Amino acid sequence: MIKTEKILHLKSSRGRKVRVVREHYLREKVPCYSSLCQADCENGGKVLPGDVTHYVVPDVGVVLDYLEILEFRELQGIVFTQTTCQAVQHHKGRRQYNRLRNLIKDPRHDCVLFANEFQEYSYRERDKGESRERWHTRCVYTAAVWYHNHLAGMMDVVMITEDQEAITRYSSLNSGVYVISIQDFLQNFWPDLQAAHDLYSSISQALQEKESESSQKEFSEHLPAEVLEAGIKSGRYVKGSLNVSKHRAQNEASLMTDGLSDKNKDLSWGVMVFGVKNRNRAVHGDVVVVELLPKSEWRGKVTALSEGQGEEKSAEENESKPMPTGRVVGILQRNWRDYVVTFPTRDGTQSQSRNSQRILAVPWDHRIPKIRISTQQADALQDHRVVVRIDSWESTSLYPNGHTVQVLGRAGELESEIQTILIENCIHVPPFSDAQLREMPVNSPEKPWRMDPAQVAERRDLRGTHLVFSIDPQGCEDVDDTLSIRRIAGGKLLELGVHIADVTHFVTEGSLTDLEARTRATTYYLADRRYDMLPAVLSADLCSLLGGVDRYAMSVLWELDAETLAVTKVWYGRTIICSSYQLHYELAQALLNGEEAERDAKLAQLTKALEMLTHVARHLRAQRDKGGALELEGVEVRAQLDEEKNITALVPRQPLEVHETVAECMIYANHWVARKIQETFPHQALLRCHPQPREDFFNQLLESASAGGFTIDTRTNKALADSLDRAVDPQDPLVNRLLRMMATTAMSQALYFSTGLLSQDKFYHYGLALDRYTHFTSPIRRYADIVVHRLLSAAIAMDTTRAEPGKPLAGHKELDETAQHINNKNRAAQRAQKLSTELFQCLFFKERDPQTDPHCVANAVIYAIRDNGVLVFVPEYGVKAPVYLKNREGQVVSAGKDGGCDWQSGSVRRSSDHISTTSIGGTSTFRLFDHITVRISVRSTNFHADGLNLEVISNKPHRSQQLVQEVVRLAEEASQQAQEKEARRPKLSKEEREYRQSKTPNLYSLLEEVRELALTDLETAAQVCATTA
Ligand SMILES: [Zn+2]
Repeated sequence: MIKTEKILHLKSSRGRKVRVVREHYLREKVPCYSSLCQADCENGGKVLPGDVTHYVVPDVGVVLDYLEILEFRELQGIVFTQTTCQAVQHHKGRRQYNRLRNLIKDPRHDCVLFANEFQEYSYRERDKGESRERWHTRCVYTAAVWYHNHLAGMMDVVMITEDQEAITRYSSLNSGVYVISIQDFLQNFWPDLQAAHDLYSSISQALQEKESESSQKEFSEHLPAEVLEAGIKSGRYVKGSLNVSKHRAQNEASLMTDGLSDKNKDLSWGVMVFGVKNRNRAVHGDVVVVELLPKSEWRGKVTALSEGQGEEKSAEENESKPMPTGRVVGILQRNWRDYVVTFPTRDGTQSQSRNSQRILAVPWDHRIPKIRISTQQADALQDHRVVVRIDSWESTSLYPNGHTVQVLGRAGELESEIQTILIENCIHVPPFSDAQLREMPVNSPEKPWRMDPAQVAERRDLRGTHLVFSIDPQGCEDVDDTLSIRRIAGGKLLELGVHIADVTHFVTEGSLTDLEARTRATTYYLADRRYDMLPAVLSADLCSLLGGVDRYAMSVLWELDAETLAVTKVWYGRTIICSSYQLHYELAQALLNGEEAERDAKLAQLTKALEMLTHVARHLRAQRDKGGALELEGVEVRAQLDEEKNITALVPRQPLEVHETVAECMIYANHWVARKIQETFPHQALLRCHPQPREDFFNQLLESASAGGFTIDTRTNKALADSLDRAVDPQDPLVNRLLRMMATTAMSQALYFSTGLLSQDKFYHYGLALDRYTHFTSPIRRYADIVVHRLLSAAIAMDTTRAEPGKPLAGHKELDETAQHINNKNRAAQRAQKLSTELFQCLFFKERDPQTDPHCVANAVIYAIRDNGVLVFVPEYGVKAPVYLKNREGQVVSAGKDGGCDWQSGSVRRSSDHISTTSIGGTSTFRLFDHITVRISVRSTNFHADGLNLEVISNKPHRSQQLVQEVVRLAEEASQQAQEKEARRPKLSKEEREYRQSKTPNLYSLLEEVRELALTDLETAAQVCATTA
């Protein structure tokens, strides 16, 4: 080892320059991470392949400015040098540095880190008078040459740089080591990777434009980090993440503070940041530091409904009482992501320079400011949805600067809109790569998959002893869960079994498939499609517990006293099952109701099992009810699609008891697995809690209920459940449904957590009324269940061998990171699902003429009163939306004697349970829970998602409402019967695979998880909270 000195010029946090001398040790052996290595390097972990045509060594400038291009997974054999990594850390900050580190760590990317400055022969000291940039370039070039020599000339090395001088100096110095520009690199080696070419020109354009910026200040400068830190400590400043109002994005933003210190108690309602100047270049989601303004400048939030999102009107509107208001003085962390923008139609007002144009692109998300893009494609991109990234936002610029990344397509087209929804929610679901698919077992007609004899010997075989069956939505391909029930011990005991797909047998921890599944965290269900968490060979085949085939399972078996149904014994373990029946819900219910005429002995056995199961489930449910489990109501509606994906109807879902039965058994299994893993691993089990909701979130529910003459008690879940049960209007079943919907909205979200981070009293699941809960029953669709399966396996192994788990389990911090990641992805999945449903709702109405098409007129129920209108629910379409009773011109809705409404000048008066309009036509009153008739049309802006516009046309119920419901119900029954018949006819003859589901497009899956997953819609909750604050 050789010792030398390295001189660093660093910048202190105060901005002073400091000269630091560091001892620097050089070694002969530094791993090269190449599979071609001839020198016995200690190449642990990721290794570059030997079968590529060249290795790529990017220089500092390329990594600083063009890292995004190096992130393309297609690019192979990339060597990042220590020199470039340090430069990124130094010049770009921690966020970008972490991004680079994650890229290097990720085994799905073919790149490695070479510690060139520790390698004796590749380290170069800085020459006297040599600029730092030039020295860096020389270091990187030396590293490139070292690689070529170290691999004995077997691999060409390409150094890429944007430094023209370096190209001239080095390109002909060593054969086998090429020095070229990014553009030449892409053109020579990746001529077909158009996305990379586009990205290159977009970034270089943005870089050029940056140089020619004006110097006039538009915003005040941000304060240095140390001043901010000191200010936060002393309580002078407040820190939090900036949350821009969705409905008043121009003016209103608030600070979401995490656990405020005691001295700031009066800020528990948050801090308002009013107007763009005070926001001082902070973007929605950034972590900012705010200085409070004097009390005289505090503002309240506007309480009226805002018409047309994003547009603001300046007329005096009612504001809530003034709240602490401040201005942004600094930004601690930028949380910029990829944004979808729409390029405006050109009208000649944009500035032009040279051959490129600067365009103000409008983000799809109202909360994000317009982004300035320099592009040569302005004409081609008109009205297109485009993915952009923000590069910078200087104090001299009214808008942030960005560059384009990817063109999604024309605004309004289905594919562009779906891709927009995914990107806006940071959902990245590329096709599974070849390397991932190579990890998968094979199951083809030529090479059918067979069980491993070693596994058969190890597992408990239930094939001959247990009647196992599944009940799922029609058309379900990924069967996670199956059930069994039988009498044992001469009828004294019942044995209930839940058998779950053994996904972790196929998905090894740390494999590429595992990493990809972890990144996705869940299968994404959109209104017309889904994106699987696991490749199809697992999700739809080898892991799927299909009828009539042998499958591996993870089972929980309970022995219950046949009389009392008390648990006498629980067994957990790996099994082999062969499911006899795949039933869909409707058919199972028909069997239970005795509607199935064509029975044989086996069917009779199945019917018996279903009856037993229903009996047990009712008992389990009753037990939980005693503890205060909540029956909640989401807006559940599914779009019925024909083969061309046109919507033929929007159908509300009908609950069936057998659905509840299956759910109850799954809840039971999840609960018992939670107990097992928590008892075995008290500090590192992954559980799911559902915290007690905040009292004030119930205000809306309480107000509405009392207006309807009901009392709701929210003190405990039991009290809430009981009072919701009592709040029934015998004339109108919708009232109870609406109240349950409001209760759902008020709930906080159920969340995964690591048991090491919470005290045990926080484990409680409020909605299900269980002391411990987790997710175990859907490992094909949820990554949390995969983690839980691994924990359960480790627990079982410890029971049988009394040994510590062979592999150390994740520590609780690491587990908590996983939990937070999954929580975030679940929220994204929920939002995407909701947005895609709304997209299809809009598509349904977009093709219809609201003036003539009877589908566009519907019954609506008022569930909340606002200053200038009401919020209604349209049961037929599952739509919740505002209805305005006063418009911008000051006109109000006036109802005639027959209920017909028109606009006249007048005024509105609001009270807690009704709102009245007064005009020449007299006074019209709209009360809570009134049924009114609305006309539905689509509001289209091109820049954002379409929205539904509801207009009251009569203050009386829609006359044909009953008729419509009847028609929808009959149509659904008819189609169901047709499907059942089809499913029945050819299959009854075949012993196995009876009632194998049809593959017709079906959207039950869309609603599958709503009950437990989507306990609340966060945004609605925040909105309700804001307007009642
Ligand atoms: Zn080597």
